[in-house]
Amino acid sequence: MSNKANRAQQWRLFISSFVGFSIIFVLLGIIVFVLFSRAMLTSTDQTLRVERSARLNGPKQQKPFMPNTSTPHKTQQFKASAHPFMTTTLIFNPRGKILNRTQLGSRYDQLKSLTLDKSAVGRLQTIRIGGKYNFRTLLVKVPKSNSDQTIAGKYLLIMENIDPQKAAMSSFKKVMLITMGVFWLLSILISVWLSRLTMRPILRSWQRQTEFVGNAAHELRTPLTIIQNKLEFLLTKPNDRIIDQAENIAIANSESQRLQKLTHDLLALDRSDSNSLQTNFEATQVAGFLQRTIEPYTEIAASQGKQLQLLPVTDFRAVLDQDLIHQLMNILIDNAMKYSPNGSTITVSAKVVGRKWQLTVADQGLGIDPQERQRIFDRFYRVDTSRSRQTGGNGLGLSIAHWIVDLHHGTIAVKDNQPRGSQFVTTLPLNPPTGMSGHHGKK
Ligand code: ADP
Repeated sequence: MSNKANRAQQWRLFISSFVGFSIIFVLLGIIVFVLFSRAMLTSTDQTLRVERSARLNGPKQQKPFMPNTSTPHKTQQFKASAHPFMTTTLIFNPRGKILNRTQLGSRYDQLKSLTLDKSAVGRLQTIRIGGKYNFRTLLVKVPKSNSDQTIAGKYLLIMENIDPQKAAMSSFKKVMLITMGVFWLLSILISVWLSRLTMRPILRSWQRQTEFVGNAAHELRTPLTIIQNKLEFLLTKPNDRIIDQAENIAIANSESQRLQKLTHDLLALDRSDSNSLQTNFEATQVAGFLQRTIEPYTEIAASQGKQLQLLPVTDFRAVLDQDLIHQLMNILIDNAMKYSPNGSTITVSAKVVGRKWQLTVADQGLGIDPQERQRIFDRFYRVDTSRSRQTGGNGLGLSIAHWIVDLHHGTIAVKDNQPRGSQFVTTLPLNPPTGMSGHHGKK
């Protein structure tokens, strides 16, 4: 059941995870691309630096490697560079004129447009010539004292063609964009899925809450209407004595008691939902505790012509919240009395089973159909609504019982009693973990 607000919430969740994904992809793309382009140029830049040091040190150092070189120019041109065929060097005089035009041959036509920018000395740059050739360049100012006097005092523009790198980079860019696009589309699907996944428990508890409020309102309305009717009726009889209207007054009174119990139960369940209950677990001698708890009910049972008995308990110690277990027994004994006939017996017993203990409340009443056994723990669920109303039930008792058992990290189950009736068997750990942060809510 989703309404506008929930849809808007789901939409917001979708948008935020989608934006999150997009930001991550874009950042990832940029980082990978920047790192890749840098790596691409590293070896080129290295070549340019090698060439620069070769030029600045002059031919002396190079000679041992190529002793038969005939012309010093050739040595400089081809020997020092790691990629001699891709590296070109322009020699400028300080006025910006290219001096090695003849060596450049046919390349000169393309390179002649280059001008000398003295401020770029020592800087690695990427330039484009003739609209299609890409070069990485390093401008070097040769000191006058340079050992190779042919270039002393001149400027060298060492250039290496980087068209292959550019091509690799652009195809890499294409692959990157396609991959990112595909993942971006995928992220739409994942965002939809994530927003649904996140909304599911919210929707579920929202639905439960709406149901709960609806049921509660419904339950509150009936006694209120009855009280109102009775009061209005009494107003039409201003001269009657109380004794004349005793029945109406008694009905109004019992309905107001019903209201009180209902609000009490609703508050208990609200606390169970908000986990706001302060529990007080303490080591308890169970036999004595059960004895004390049951005593007042024995009289009530007797007044209804029923018998309530506690079977002998071998004493043991268990850690429990006495108020809550008291409330649990109250609910179970109250139900046992409500749903069993006059003259029947209700038995309470307790025993240790391994590291746990079991509390059983058995009656000789109507019994509960196997298919109802799970549902009776649901809020407001009653097997027979009209009969429950007569007995004063609101369908909240067992859901509170279930919550109390949960708080103690135990379980509660219904079984058949022999020869008839039902048994509510509560199994609780002797030493429940008391860091009570676990799941307290109703299932
Ligand atoms: P209620 O206030 O109506 O008793 P509960 O949550 O305590 O609400 O119980 C839910 C339903 O389970 C009851 O309406 C009743 O139909 C059934 N039930 C509970 N305890 C017993 C029992 N001891 N014997 C038979 N039916 C029972």
